[in-house]
Amino acid sequence: MTRSYQDPKNTAGWAGQGEPSIKKMNKKMLKKGWNALRKGQIMRLVKKGIAMTVNAYHYTLRRGKNTVECPCCGWRGPAFLATSPGQHLALNSSCPDCDSRSRHRGLALMLPSLLEGKSGAFLLFAPEKVVLETLAKTNVTIHTTDLNRRDVDFPNEDIQHLSFKDETYEALLANHVLEHIPDDLQALRECYRVLKPGGIALFTVAGDFTVQETRKLHKVDWLGHYRYYGLDVLDLFREAGFEVEAVNMGAGIDPKWGVREGDMLFVGKKA
Ligand SMILES: [Zn+2]
Repeated sequence: MTRSYQDPKNTAGWAGQGEPSIKKMNKKMLKKGWNALRKGQIMRLVKKGIAMTVNAYHYTLRRGKNTVECPCCGWRGPAFLATSPGQHLALNSSCPDCDSRSRHRGLALMLPSLLEGKSGAFLLFAPEKVVLETLAKTNVTIHTTDLNRRDVDFPNEDIQHLSFKDETYEALLANHVLEHIPDDLQALRECYRVLKPGGIALFTVAGDFTVQETRKLHKVDWLGHYRYYGLDVLDLFREAGFEVEAVNMGAGIDPKWGVREGDMLFVGKKA
């Protein structure tokens, strides 16, 4: 069987694009704007325009202000970059230095306390550079794994059918993975199986947790997502065996960290 391997460098959390200059922004705006216009994507054009305008405001009029601070890399500046992938618009999103997004910054703030006292094996699915750097500051032994990438300790691992023995790991993390998996319940059962009793399984997933119901897509979207989760994802964790808690990573913390209110970390425990 041949498999096309993925280059992780094209995903979030690998390398920042640097602080934007007027010249760079103008060039990018013209190129992206023209592409969207050519394809008749008016909403896309509008959102790209908003992102560019917001970045231009922060990096000209507010340049030199240190309003935000990245807990992943320590960068400080006027704002995280607004991004507009596809039809989305995310304000205060990408760190110009390390490309961390809200979820990575939330993890950087939470992982040290969640992993306090843990020094065993930690399984990391679909590793991102910023998450690896956060984990390197803890005492766990990191094992990376992925289905489609070669730059990991355990390649060719399908989260729905892992090759690891029962009760191998003290902790694991799958950051925005579950929404890409056809059988997400089976994936969670496998995570539960490889976890030691007393271990914790951490998940962030794409979704909207102001709504109850998961929105299942008829076909996989351009991001490779099968679904967008609602709060009923908690039932899925329980069905797989976990005691689970949803932690709102952005609630009650200093806004300078740029962690969105409502960005959830699901903490599954194996009794
Ligand atoms: Zn950063």
